[in-house]
Amino acid sequence: MDPLYRIFYPDESITIPADLDEYIALLSKKFPDEKEGISKLFDTIKNLAEDIQRLPTSLKICDIMLFPLKFPLIFKYYKKTFADMMADFIMDAKLKSIISAGWPCAGLPPSKVSALYMCVFLHSAHVEGFYRTKGGAQAFVDLLVKALARYGGVLQLKTKAAKIQVENNRVIGVETSKGERVHAKCIVSNIDARQTFLNLIGREKLNRKFSERLERMEPSISFFQAWLGIDVDPRNNGVNESEILYYSSYNTDEIYDSCLTGGFESMCAISIPSLLDPNLAPEGKHVIGILYPVSYDFEQQWMMENEKRGQEYQNLKVKVTNRLIKTVERVVPRLSEHIIVSEAATPLTLGRYTLNYKGAAYGWAHVPDQVGTNRLQPKTHIKGLYLAGHWTTPGGGTIAVALSGKTTAEMILKKQI
Ligand SMILES: Cc1cc2nc3c(=O)[nH]c(=O)nc-3n(C[C@H](O)[C@H](O)[C@H](O)COP(=O)(O)OP(=O)(O)OC[C@H]3O[C@@H](n4cnc5c(N)ncnc54)[C@H](O)[C@@H]3O)c2cc1C
Repeated sequence: MDPLYRIFYPDESITIPADLDEYIALLSKKFPDEKEGISKLFDTIKNLAEDIQRLPTSLKICDIMLFPLKFPLIFKYYKKTFADMMADFIMDAKLKSIISAGWPCAGLPPSKVSALYMCVFLHSAHVEGFYRTKGGAQAFVDLLVKALARYGGVLQLKTKAAKIQVENNRVIGVETSKGERVHAKCIVSNIDARQTFLNLIGREKLNRKFSERLERMEPSISFFQAWLGIDVDPRNNGVNESEILYYSSYNTDEIYDSCLTGGFESMCAISIPSLLDPNLAPEGKHVIGILYPVSYDFEQQWMMENEKRGQEYQNLKVKVTNRLIKTVERVVPRLSEHIIVSEAATPLTLGRYTLNYKGAAYGWAHVPDQVGTNRLQPKTHIKGLYLAGHWTTPGGGTIAVALSGKTTAEMILKKQI
């Protein structure tokens, strides 16, 4: 995607080009006093991200001893937030806000998100680029399923893994919700980590310290989402970009706090995929996705009564959608007059479809205490049980979980060959 995205602030909008040199030149022109710092910051982001890619999947004692010498940048920023890291290079608060505008993709603002995780995200955005799947996200899933079948895999839909059978601290199989038992020497779980350990295996089979750690770990943010079908071309209003971020101020902490308390006017992420792939909507029509980071526990009103979502919940969904549409109208004026289809999802919807704890969008929150070796590792303390996906390393995001799957597969294959 080029440009990567456009950011709307109350006083101006900035379009972020895909080319990193062009982006650095744009920032340096806007903030001439910070030119040297900007260039140093992006060099550090690149070097850090490349060092992270070079990290061995498991560290031997000698690796640990030599770690500060071999990976000085990782060692320096391991426990730091991205705000700490930016402060080493630049001063201007507005500039810091622009550079970290993509923070909702990491789930936390710069003052809370791990410097390492944010650097990997920024490197992936500005060096490797942003992509959308032609034909929509389902096209990507269909390809994965095709590949699974090609290698003899079987996908069972509407079937839960109900139990992971463990004997003498070793997995022996899986029991499905249909009562089927599948014997296995090796199991890979990419589902919610609390579900894997606390429900499917059971607390009684885990050591106490480990279950306490699981209870303590903090899940990432969830999202409220709305999708609209519209009968107007956003380009008529000068909106040409398929990814847009709207912020009511440059203060990222204030915005994040307002997200947690339902300040739906403070920000939103808007995507218009039909601008890139016209086949996603009928001719002359477009699709708009609105994303807003929000807590699962917001106002308690997301909560269901007796496992049923009542009228109050439906009303809240409509109310929030309308408030977000008003926010989007700051970017696409009079949008509400052109909506022909509208659909919304709350953190409960995300929880229902993915069974991720509290509708978490990215597994564990990407705070410094929960990334790298502080995150659950792909090889677990139960023999034959491996993790993949966003509850293990490196963390949330499609590319990250694909890499995690690859790492886990290699780990298992190396062991068996
Ligand atoms: C609204 C939203 C927008 C996002 N946007 C982006 C983006 O633009 N780019 C990006 O890179 N990342 C994005 N992410 C993050 C990304 O989607 C996730 O990090 C990633 O999908 C995690 O993949 P996973 O395989 O670890 O887990 P999941 O995608 O959660 O998959 C787990 C699967 O396991 C199934 N399951 C759960 N329990 C069981 C069980 N007991 N038995 C059988 N099956 C079970 C679930 O139904 C689910 O299908 C977004 C996330 C959200 C919520």
